[in-house]
Amino acid sequence: MKSLSNFTLEELENLALELEEPKFRAKQLHNWIWTKSAQNFDEMTDLSKNFKEKLQQIAVVTNVKIKTKQVSSDGTIKYLLEYEDGECVETVLMRFDNRSNLTACVSSQVGCACGCDFCATGKRGFIRNLTAFEIANQILTIQRDSKLKVTNVVFMGQGEPLNNFENLNLAIKIINDYLQIGIRRITVSTCGIIPKIYDLTKQSLIPTLALSLHAPNHSLREKIMPIEKKHNLDELKKALKFFNDKTGDRITIEYVLLGNLNDTREMAFELAKFLKDIKCNINLIPYNSVDETKYKKPDKKNVMMFKYILEGSGKKVTVRLERGADIDAACGQLRGKVVNN
Ligand code: SAH
Ligand code: SF4
Repeated sequence: MKSLSNFTLEELENLALELEEPKFRAKQLHNWIWTKSAQNFDEMTDLSKNFKEKLQQIAVVTNVKIKTKQVSSDGTIKYLLEYEDGECVETVLMRFDNRSNLTACVSSQVGCACGCDFCATGKRGFIRNLTAFEIANQILTIQRDSKLKVTNVVFMGQGEPLNNFENLNLAIKIINDYLQIGIRRITVSTCGIIPKIYDLTKQSLIPTLALSLHAPNHSLREKIMPIEKKHNLDELKKALKFFNDKTGDRITIEYVLLGNLNDTREMAFELAKFLKDIKCNINLIPYNSVDETKYKKPDKKNVMMFKYILEGSGKKVTVRLERGADIDAACGQLRGKVVNN
């Protein structure tokens, strides 16, 4: 069976012609799938009975399955989605009480090859890249299920998006065009694949960049993030400045606070110095527990002190609210596991 949510508009037009239907039917079909989040062909009231019957014989609306769905006490919803080959990834839907924004946190790969020591996905290793449609279908699937319209997308689920570069850029185009989400509302988070940061500035649609820094110096960073051995902080700083200059946009610097490791006064001052010439906002992420790792949550007072020191350097600093920790949906807790309950 063909899965029509993996088809471009042009491919749907060819399909309509093959089924001896006028080309404009494809546009209607496309609208039902991407704008009206239809579940099945029966709902598509302006298509002829005959066309729908022909479609039913050869196709389904989508082949992405919702394997499990968990709702956190804070309203965060974590979906475990299954693709045709049986691989699963999480997509997390976050609503913030005081805002009408609805943010989807999407995965770009099954697993991840980067192996950051504090991250559950990294512990799992790399399984495979997601296709562009598999990425975009995460948003479509949760819209269809929740009957809500996603307004913002962050590539902060499983995987390193810049290691799946072509599919990432195509997915961004589909999300922007078919799902009508503005490019400024799409954020790509990376651990720092430097050549791809440069390449990102050459794209026709350039998303907001979030950079996972997590340490202000080479020796600590290489201990917790293997990528530092390949792409080090000096080179990273150059790439970030280039991104600033080329796009005019501020970068979001993500910094996971690991208790008694990178959350000290000295580290805060060292970080402020490192970021001095970079146009950025800083997002502090108190570490979320992951079973196998040896790290600790930071003390609240250290989080406040860290924030205070960085603000003193003139940067805007936010502390990321922990979302969905009771259902293992918080940052770093995603690993595509099937829950048996
Ligand atoms: N691979 C990309 C995007 C996915 S991870 C990246 O690393 O940027 C999204 C964010 O969650 C990253 O900043 C990552 O470092 C952070 N993260 C990973 N494990 C975490 C944990 N246990 N607690 C808090 N944040 C974590
Ligand atoms: Fe991969 Fe990001 Fe996890 Fe590092 S933090 S292992 S780059 S998903």
